[in-house]
Amino acid sequence: MVLLKSIKSKILVFAIMATLIPSLGLGLLSFRQNEAQTSDTVNRELRALASQASRELELWINKHIHSVRALSTSNAVIDGLSATSHPHAGMSNKTPQALTHYLRSVQSKLDTIIELTVVGAAGQIVASSAAPPSVLNLPQSWPESAFTEGVVLEPPHWDKLHGTATFSVAVPVLSYDNVLMGALVAVLDLRTAQPYLKSSTKSPLGEVLLLDQNGRALLSSHADKIKRISLDALILRQLLAKPGESMTFQGLMNREVIGVADTPAALPITVVAERERADIYAAWVDLRNQFLALVCILVLVVAAVAFRMGRSIVTPLQHLIVAANSIADGDLDVQLPVTRNDEFGHLTLIFNRMADKLRHSHAEVVATNQAMQQQNTLLETLSVTDGLTGLYNRSKLDVILKDELARFNRNQRPFAVLMMDIDNFKTLNDNHGHIAGDEVIVAVAKILSQSIRSVDYAARYGGDEFVIIMVETTADMAFITAERILSRVNDMRYSANGKIISVTVSIGVVQCQQSDNASPTAVFARADSALYEAKRAGRNQAHYAT
Ligand code: GH3
Ligand code: MG
Repeated sequence: MVLLKSIKSKILVFAIMATLIPSLGLGLLSFRQNEAQTSDTVNRELRALASQASRELELWINKHIHSVRALSTSNAVIDGLSATSHPHAGMSNKTPQALTHYLRSVQSKLDTIIELTVVGAAGQIVASSAAPPSVLNLPQSWPESAFTEGVVLEPPHWDKLHGTATFSVAVPVLSYDNVLMGALVAVLDLRTAQPYLKSSTKSPLGEVLLLDQNGRALLSSHADKIKRISLDALILRQLLAKPGESMTFQGLMNREVIGVADTPAALPITVVAERERADIYAAWVDLRNQFLALVCILVLVVAAVAFRMGRSIVTPLQHLIVAANSIADGDLDVQLPVTRNDEFGHLTLIFNRMADKLRHSHAEVVATNQAMQQQNTLLETLSVTDGLTGLYNRSKLDVILKDELARFNRNQRPFAVLMMDIDNFKTLNDNHGHIAGDEVIVAVAKILSQSIRSVDYAARYGGDEFVIIMVETTADMAFITAERILSRVNDMRYSANGKIISVTVSIGVVQCQQSDNASPTAVFARADSALYEAKRAGRNQAHYAT
């Protein structure tokens, strides 16, 4: 069943069915018709053969009855018989011998007659060409019936003595004044009728058999084939029940034959015309075998073509399936070779275009994502950075301070806050201009970021004010950093409009403490007052608020 699910197998099965069903169907029809025609023809031919043989046999018998009758009217026979019926002195011994001589000389001249015997009115043998003569089975009613019917025929039978089938014909012998004196009995050799059974040139194919009343074969048109065997009594009865109709049966040579029976009127004998069934249908069987061989070859050729066709459909489909699967798994780098000019070639082209588009769209999406991420990062940076100095801005400073306060509440590790303001910046602005002021703010910011550790934070608090948060640092340690900043700012020399500007800053240093209550405002307020103290004490110095 799994096999049948493949397109290839479906095409194969369809092609074989489409070849087998019509060819076998048509073949079967035509062979049945052929068989019927053959059987019709054979029936007709066998019927013709049987009736022709019957007619010829009748003619043959009548011809010989006629010659026996002619012989019975010969002087030699009449005189011989009348001499024995009314013997005269001196003739009684000679006459039968003279008759015997006569009969012998006539018989020797005729091929058909085996024996000629003259019997008296009482049935006693008077003279015969044979010594001893055959026993004559004349009916009881003889001689009355001979006189009325003219001739008595003894049914043909197998004659062991002569080694052939014979039958006897008895014709009455009448005196010159028409008195019944006896009969002339001729034993005829049926074998001599053989050439009359069938003409080798004109007759249809088949063998003609003569059977006696018991079905025993007496003569065959194929003389050499005759065997002294009998046809089954039941078959003979069936054949005789429907004369002229053909029947298939086991023939005398033990082969299956088709035969037709006919009974000639002149003789109690059955004429059977038969043909071997295998012979009749040999050509038919030959043709059928050739047809079957042809169908087999046809099926093989069609199967091969269908297989190729199925493969030519399934193979590109499989390639497409594999490629589509790769795309489904995320691998867009798929390109199928277009090798065909048909629908599959077209489909492959479309597939490749589709994959191209997907790749492009995917690349675009990736690029857009990257750009967006960069923008987001930039936005994020901008949102926490002071535009002029690049230090953290005020809002970020609030967040950092809140986080540090929370951390301090958790682990009690101190951190320090440095708040600083440039000294007399208003004057600097006034003397050198705002642009120079901005540049000084940037330069101070740079010093701040260079003066702290990477874990610390520097932010612009606003205007010329900055805040530094030093994590895990005490005020003492922060004070050192403050002094370093003071010194570095002091050392800074900045030139504006050809004049050297010196800048100083004041710094307020505080350390976080419990009283701040985790409030940035409180910390800033303390840092601011420390810064105020530094300003008040003369600027350019750091003040540590305890
Ligand atoms: P003090 O020593 O007491 O701090 O004196 P000061 O002149 O510096 O006074 P204060 O700090 O109060 O003045 C700050 C001045 O800084 C006021 C304002 O004009 C100037 N300022 C504020 N923001 C900027 C800025 O972004 N650029 C410039 N050039 N000047 C600014
Ligand atoms: Mg100032």
